[in-house]
Amino acid sequence: MELKAILDYQEIDKKLFSLEQSLAKDPNKQKCAQLNQTARDSQVKSNQLEEQASAIIKEMDELQKTIASTKKHGLEVLKADPEKMDEDEIDELLNRKERVASNLTLLDKRLTKLAETINQILSEFNRTIKLYNDAKVQYQKFKAAYDQKVSELQPQMNAIKTELTALAKKVDKETLEKYNKKREDKIFPVYVQLVGNACGRCRMELSASAISKLKSEHMLTCENCRSIIYYL
Ligand SMILES: [Zn+2]
Repeated sequence: MELKAILDYQEIDKKLFSLEQSLAKDPNKQKCAQLNQTARDSQVKSNQLEEQASAIIKEMDELQKTIASTKKHGLEVLKADPEKMDEDEIDELLNRKERVASNLTLLDKRLTKLAETINQILSEFNRTIKLYNDAKVQYQKFKAAYDQKVSELQPQMNAIKTELTALAKKVDKETLEKYNKKREDKIFPVYVQLVGNACGRCRMELSASAISKLKSEHMLTCENCRSIIYYL
């Protein structure tokens, strides 16, 4: 029956599947994925820091303008001649001097605070860039190790694929398509035997009615793991 051809195919395909799995689970490959993520995160972070820094620089510019105009105002206050003033006007002049001085102190404090913040952002930016660069260098190292493994396994995988192409000719198109679909979904082995009264892949016990259906129809999709249980 047709099942023999696909089982022969699967037997050879098992070797390919296991090589593919060993590549997929390769620690160097996983490390590459992590480092890629680190590089992407660092990029996002450095963009955010750049935006923050430019907002602060803008605020500092405006603050410096305010400081300049406050100082200008202060100079005008200083130019006033108390000799020509009455007592109230002198009081008012002293008040204005005090206000200018206290405003300038506050503005200076704010400017110092902003300068501190911008320094913090700058050092965080430098750390982030270093993280990004280190991740890139590390990535190259792990990528090379992974590529090395791929190139070592490639001849073996190609030989299996050639063998599979020949075996595939004996399998009907519909069966092969169904098989490949399950394989892509990592339902593997696609075809499994009944072990006792259980699925040969996930070991889920089948009901009595499922067993009798399997025995009459020779094939049954496992409700749990989606493998095809066969019974010859
Ligand atoms: Zn199962």
